[in-house]
Amino acid sequence: MPHEGCPHDCLFCNQKAISGRTEKLAAADVELAANTAIASGKDTTGGEIAFFGGSFTAIDSDYMESLLKAAKPYIDAGSFKGIRISTRPDFIDERILSLLKSYRVTAIELGAQSMVDEVLIKNHRGHLSEDTRKACALIKSYDFELGLQMMTGLYGDNDEGAFFTAEEFIKLSPQTVRIYPTIVLKNTMLSELYYKEMYKPQTLSEAVELCAKLLIRFRNAGIKVIRLGLHSGGGVEPDYIDGPYHPAFGELCESRVYLKKATGLLSAYPKGKYKLVVNNSDISKMVGQKRDNIKALSLMGYDCTVSGAESVSPFDILIKQM
Ligand code: SF4
Repeated sequence: MPHEGCPHDCLFCNQKAISGRTEKLAAADVELAANTAIASGKDTTGGEIAFFGGSFTAIDSDYMESLLKAAKPYIDAGSFKGIRISTRPDFIDERILSLLKSYRVTAIELGAQSMVDEVLIKNHRGHLSEDTRKACALIKSYDFELGLQMMTGLYGDNDEGAFFTAEEFIKLSPQTVRIYPTIVLKNTMLSELYYKEMYKPQTLSEAVELCAKLLIRFRNAGIKVIRLGLHSGGGVEPDYIDGPYHPAFGELCESRVYLKKATGLLSAYPKGKYKLVVNNSDISKMVGQKRDNIKALSLMGYDCTVSGAESVSPFDILIKQM
């Protein structure tokens, strides 16, 4: 969805760049996307038709219904399990939720971005943390799956603010969370502040370090983090000015989590040679991009090799002395 109908102008937002499309999405596009997914031969029955990028419930209501009308028959036919939308916390009310329910929307994600009111105000979000709390309670009362999205490195925010936001999110018990570090894009108010040297984005390393800690916190609370960083190929690159954008940002954060865990576990062992055994699917996360984790452990005096075993649970590390 493009910046369709959103009456706000958040400091960091250039919605056309983020969604990667400028033309208006039509019902035919929804059908084409669904038919393409089905024709690919992959099993779509556990998948969702998702409307992301804009504030779905803030768009013109007839237009919103035309998109939902196009999607619903695919859910009725069992081709997909439901519809997922993203919107703003202040565009949720009982009427909207009833309407979404009637079109078989199953999951609602709220762009909360921060739970620090001062940060929300500074970034011209047009809503406060209390709107997010109220919207979450309403969404849960209608039995939708709840997702929350937060940003790091917002204008006026810091790590403390991000941790506060994470703790407030956990209290709202969403099923999923997405974390997006703030990127400076062309044609945004944030870019003006950046050029006036009134805003300094997080470095990639700072964002990875913070997001890895947030990831651990959400995981420990039993909340799935389903996205870290903006999608590559979504149209960000042409409008990118500065900030912690990396096409494999999530993988960098996951690797940092493994480095932290391995460092903690190895600190109980004397320096020397070790084999780190992780789940087969997590070998690259343990090794790190360009073997960064192995190099970092080596600098600490731990000469490590990594191997995989299906018997090791995801996120676990088994240490074997060599
Ligand atoms: S609410 Fe969302 S779509 Fe609207 S300006 Fe802010 S970030 Fe962009």
